Amino acid sequence: MRPLVLLDVDGPLNPWAAKHKPPNYRPFDIKVGWWRKLRIWLDPGHGDQLRRLADDTGAELAWATSWLHRANTEIGPRLGLPALKVVEFHDERGWKYPAVARYAYERPLVWFDDDFALHAARRDEFVHKRRHLTTALVHVDPGTGITAEHLSEAREAFSGNP
Ligand SMILES: [Mg+2]
Repeated sequence: MRPLVLLDVDGPLNPWAAKHKPPNYRPFDIKVGWWRKLRIWLDPGHGDQLRRLADDTGAELAWATSWLHRANTEIGPRLGLPALKVVEFHDERGWKYPAVARYAYERPLVWFDDDFALHAARRDEFVHKRRHLTTALVHVDPGTGITAEHLSEAREAFSGNP
């Protein structure tokens, strides 16, 4: 089973809570609606780092973000990522867990997000049901975004497959 690397956007790739963005981050203004703009910060180096993680571990990258398919038009190209599959959420209770459980099924997974603490009971249930599989929930501080440590944690998790 091909392992999976799931990516959230706000927090891991767009460190919205950082008062001072690290120098490798660049601002992008994303059009939302006719005349409103949303400023986000992205590190274009993340694209390469994530692709390398996926290549080296044989994993597939996929989006698990409320940006849904817009991640492929607004975020991926700015990081140099190809179009990725999108985990779709349909107003589910239990946050992203039910949709991710269905999408990942029996595949080992690493998941970068800043909100695992939401719905803690659902999180515990999710992890418990997948206890026979690699299930690394890599919490990323929205004040830092994904760092080298997070990427090593991901590699480490996959090195002990299943
Ligand atoms: Mg987030």
